[in-house]
Amino acid sequence: MNTMYDILIIGGGMAGASLSIALSGHGLRTGLVEAAPLKVEQVPNYDDRGIALSRGSERILTALGVWESMAGQAQPIEHIHVSEQGGFGFTHLHAEEEGVPALGQVITARNLGAGLLAALEALDDVDLIAPARVKWVKVENGHARIGLEDDELQTRLLVAADGGNSLVRQQLGFQSRRREYHQSAIIANITPGRPHDNSAWERFTRNGPMALLPMTESRCALVWTVADKDVGEVLSLDDGEFLARVQQNFGWRLGRLQRAGKRAAYPLAQLWVPDAVQHRAVVIGNAAHTLHPVAGQGFNLGLRDVAALAEVVLDAVKEDRDPGSLETLNRYQQWRSRDQRGVVETTNLLVRAFSNDFLPVKLARNLGVLSLEALPPARHAIARAAMGLQGHLPRLSRGLPL
Ligand SMILES: Cc1cc2nc3c(=O)[nH]c(=O)nc-3n(C[C@H](O)[C@H](O)[C@H](O)COP(=O)(O)OP(=O)(O)OC[C@H]3O[C@@H](n4cnc5c(N)ncnc54)[C@H](O)[C@@H]3O)c2cc1C
Repeated sequence: MNTMYDILIIGGGMAGASLSIALSGHGLRTGLVEAAPLKVEQVPNYDDRGIALSRGSERILTALGVWESMAGQAQPIEHIHVSEQGGFGFTHLHAEEEGVPALGQVITARNLGAGLLAALEALDDVDLIAPARVKWVKVENGHARIGLEDDELQTRLLVAADGGNSLVRQQLGFQSRRREYHQSAIIANITPGRPHDNSAWERFTRNGPMALLPMTESRCALVWTVADKDVGEVLSLDDGEFLARVQQNFGWRLGRLQRAGKRAAYPLAQLWVPDAVQHRAVVIGNAAHTLHPVAGQGFNLGLRDVAALAEVVLDAVKEDRDPGSLETLNRYQQWRSRDQRGVVETTNLLVRAFSNDFLPVKLARNLGVLSLEALPPARHAIARAAMGLQGHLPRLSRGLPL
């Protein structure tokens, strides 16, 4: 078979699945290629991690028509508390002060994935090609070609949403910058002794940043960054010892931590492709920027890529322009690079600043955090950025249809 698509998306993770849904219904021939079977238990990252969705992401998912089916499994974030163990600085953000019902929502990647996959299955204009692994990619003037095990597909625009180790990115020679952190994120669902009151806690501890996010059923999603050398030990603790270790670092704001669910560890590094477009190809989501989860921004940033790319591509098609031309894709690149650079650099700065015990650095960051508390306009700006509502917003982020 030798099939020609308008848009071919590689990767059925959160970014690729969302883009497929966004492009549906506009008269395009779209294909989605995923290496795993498109079942929530089998797509690699639709797992138990808690995903903090910004308010902007909730709006995009609502505009795509998928949020309604997920909302029942999500928990709103109404307050965010940031503090440092042994430090005097702290700050709070409140939904009420920002005039919104919630600053964001927390949902497991599994429930988010289930909602996306159910929506995908209902589309009749997106070919779901799975399980099928892309083996090679070539770009020619009029189209891109991709090779599967026993098939070849062609497309006017190839979208690489194939994750941090993107084969498409590597084969097409996109330049990426990588930073090693020598840290891993340990996740587990925790049941605290006191109600979480829809608060998210970000605590910078001597042993790495720790986030506890409010979840359904009175649970909290823990994301704890530890040095790679300590991961084996933390994973091997029994539940009681593990909870005691978390408690020691987090403190008693949520009472005694009572139960811990299954633990998993993710090695962390940062990757960024500053120039993510070529003639006929664009890289999005984790394939374009893989972030430390300290600020919970990875998918939120990827979803803003999706919203902007869908808009640029559909505008091109409406105006009879080629969706895969460099001219079209440069519009996307120019639009997205400021947001991407900002989130990539800020995330890195947070990791570096809070991993440093040098006294002047410690003092400066405590004063920095404290001055945020004292300066409502600065806090408001941070809240808008965290909610994904800053800068030139795509139509979907404003809740408008494409
Ligand atoms: C511990 C942790 C906590 C996080 N918390 C948050 C949070 O709170 N908020 C937030 O916004 N983000 C968070 N993130 C980030 C978020 O999980 C990622 O940004 C998101 O999962 C990336 O989705 P993606 O679709 O870009 O990539 P992936 O999920 O990596 O999907 C890529 C897909 O491509 C497929 N694929 C790969 N190669 C091929 C090939 N050759 N052929 C065909 N298919 C292929 C893979 O099977 C996979 O399904 C967190 C991440 C971690 C690790």
